[in-house]
Amino acid sequence: MTREHDHIHADDGHDHHHAPPEEVVVRVKALENLMVSKGLVDPAAIDEIVDHYENRIGPHVGAKVVARAWSDEAFKQRLLDNPNGALAEMGVSRLQGEDMVVVENTDEVHNILVCTLCSCYPWNVLGLPPVWYKSTPYRSRIVKEPRAVLRDDFGVAVPDSKEVRIWDANAELRYMVLPQRPVGTESLTEEQLAELVTRDSMLGVGQPKTAAA
Ligand code: FE
Repeated sequence: MTREHDHIHADDGHDHHHAPPEEVVVRVKALENLMVSKGLVDPAAIDEIVDHYENRIGPHVGAKVVARAWSDEAFKQRLLDNPNGALAEMGVSRLQGEDMVVVENTDEVHNILVCTLCSCYPWNVLGLPPVWYKSTPYRSRIVKEPRAVLRDDFGVAVPDSKEVRIWDANAELRYMVLPQRPVGTESLTEEQLAELVTRDSMLGVGQPKTAAA
């Protein structure tokens, strides 16, 4: 498998990452038109929801949270002790009423997120999930052989000395990884730090960018 992990192919026939077939698009549009014409939904509300998920939520939200935690030790403690409260401080809401848990990567522990059952994902901080996250190969293999998956699919080496912990999300609980702050970033501002935080680093399948990059 290559680093192009957005191209992992699910082998269960339930692959979600191709564009929806034309007939699905047409059916969705027909349903929407019908609901609008019956006054069941407001098209402006639908546009608002689509805009929210497509544009306003995304990994940039989580990146700001991580950068704040890296810059402000007191905030970091609040984020670990009371994630919902700390996220609310930053204007991050609980989209689906789920509880957030933030797990910190350290020199001793590397955390990885998965939803083995389906595709539960911390939408409020990361936006829409990448296709590989929902794929059967990732969901089954990451639990059985996390180090091999990180190495082969994501190009991330976790030393044997480090403990690997897998966090299985569900409808009530969503996790987010607080990655380790890259070395050599002492002089960076919170804004500059946020640019180093990748989506994959908040899922535990990647590292933040280095200061030089
Ligand atoms: Fe799920």
